[in-house]
Amino acid sequence: MQPAPALRGFRFLGWGPRATGSYSGWATRSDLYGRCGRCTGLVSLWPDQIEQCSCGALFKDLGRFGHLDGDQSIAIYSKDGPTP
Ligand SMILES: [Zn+2]
Repeated sequence: MQPAPALRGFRFLGWGPRATGSYSGWATRSDLYGRCGRCTGLVSLWPDQIEQCSCGALFKDLGRFGHLDGDQSIAIYSKDGPTP
């Protein structure tokens, strides 16, 4: 697996659904983002709208989230809160 890409303003959590803290499938949290390994586009895990990254490999529709290269290719990030 490629090294975790650093991303300003975000914290890297891991790869795939497990990194979201859910034991089955994806956690739906508005502060979590998946990052496409092809175009490095970010897509929020919050299922409020149909969305995809700029190359289209990472996609989200209502209730589904995935990547053409497989779930484990998705890098998961949380938005960094203000540092105390
Ligand atoms: Zn992409």
